[in-house]
Amino acid sequence: LKNDMLEQWDRENFFHPSTHLAQHARGESPTRVIKTAKGSHITDRDGNQLLDAFAGLYCVNVGYGRTEIAEAIAEQAHELAYYHSYVGHGTEASITLSKMILDRAPAGMSKVYFGLGGSDANETNVKLIWYYNNILGRPEKKKIISRWRGYHGSGLVTGSLTGLELFHKKFDLPLAQVVHTEAPYYYRRPDVNMSEADYVAHLVAELEALIEREGADTIAAFIGEPVLGTGGIVPPPEGYWAAVQEVLNKHDILLVADEVVTGFGRLGSMFGSDHYGMKPDLITIAKGLTSAYAPLSGSIVGDKMWKVLEQGTDENGPIGHGWTYSAHPIGAGAGIANLKLIDELKLIENASEVGKYLNAEMKDALGDHAHVGEIRGEGMLCAVELVQDRDSRAGFDPSRKVVPAIVGEMAKAGVIARAMPQGDIIGYAPPFCLTREEADTVVAATVDAVKATLG
Ligand code: PLP
Repeated sequence: LKNDMLEQWDRENFFHPSTHLAQHARGESPTRVIKTAKGSHITDRDGNQLLDAFAGLYCVNVGYGRTEIAEAIAEQAHELAYYHSYVGHGTEASITLSKMILDRAPAGMSKVYFGLGGSDANETNVKLIWYYNNILGRPEKKKIISRWRGYHGSGLVTGSLTGLELFHKKFDLPLAQVVHTEAPYYYRRPDVNMSEADYVAHLVAELEALIEREGADTIAAFIGEPVLGTGGIVPPPEGYWAAVQEVLNKHDILLVADEVVTGFGRLGSMFGSDHYGMKPDLITIAKGLTSAYAPLSGSIVGDKMWKVLEQGTDENGPIGHGWTYSAHPIGAGAGIANLKLIDELKLIENASEVGKYLNAEMKDALGDHAHVGEIRGEGMLCAVELVQDRDSRAGFDPSRKVVPAIVGEMAKAGVIARAMPQGDIIGYAPPFCLTREEADTVVAATVDAVKATLG
């Protein structure tokens, strides 16, 4: 296909997710068509090669072009492209993968319920929580607490859980069953004199006050990402999860760890829950489960919930929840090959080591810049938060579009980073196979682009 034809078809036919509709109408949103990819690099139709420091949407964790996974997918498609997994049926690939996931999961987890993407897995979580409380005879214990800046998907329930305004406005969200509490964002603490310990105490007091206001008997669960992702790549302050967990235990509120980004190694540990000592009742997994070679997600159900769900009465019949593509064998085949590759190539160890290097080098190169407020990260995640003024921590006038300009400059220099959707934040989540030399390239491109844009 000729490039101009592709452009025309794209413009005329393709409604891209997250389209800026006004810009599209003005013809201001050209599409970069990606043709091939290998390792940490993608190549577009015009032959431009770019180092993808966001691993797609923090999902191509093992890197691009892994023939082992491509072959596993092809073999599975030849042998059995599809059969459903509704009760009484299963496939070798999906059963094997369920075992591999539980072998890697934190202690105390019982079962995997498979879906397709992170949003539907969180939808499953909410339904399982409601079902669980119904079995326990307390259907009014229904509300879910989420954090402002959390990201949990963009459906109606999951978009409600998401704590970013963009995902609520014009959709009449959040739904009434979802309430939000403060994000654990130490850099944006209400008083700069607060220590981390004071800040955690403040967050816990806010959470307690919310539970008090709503009534603990109306609150079913709390959902959070071990490290806030799309809301700005923000690791929690020391002691945060232990303190939250204590409050939840006190009020018999379940904990959902949304590990769509952190699961399978991004923090340098297999799961973020282990990394921070969380004891979740449900864990959401998606992206890193297959490194995005095929769509697959899951809800890992903990022992406490499973023991109750298992008692589902005959009068209820089968649980009324399932997708045609739950546990799709091609996704499962990709997942098996992906998890094997992560082990064989010691990719989590590399994510931990090169991630530390990337964060340290970024701080070294830019930490003193007059417009850099904070550089933070964990494992193979990094964020550079820019400010107009370091003392007041004030952001830039949004009309200046500072971060999109910087990220645009970086792309011209051959490096992809992400302009995070809220705040002046440049985000990085490279594939786990990133080398130190590639990390140097990412840092150098960031420094050049920040200096070109802000001086
Ligand atoms: N949860 C988290 C933490 C995510 O980062 C995302 C996507 O970025 C989702 C859920 C939603 O996943 P999906 O886009 O596959 O529906």
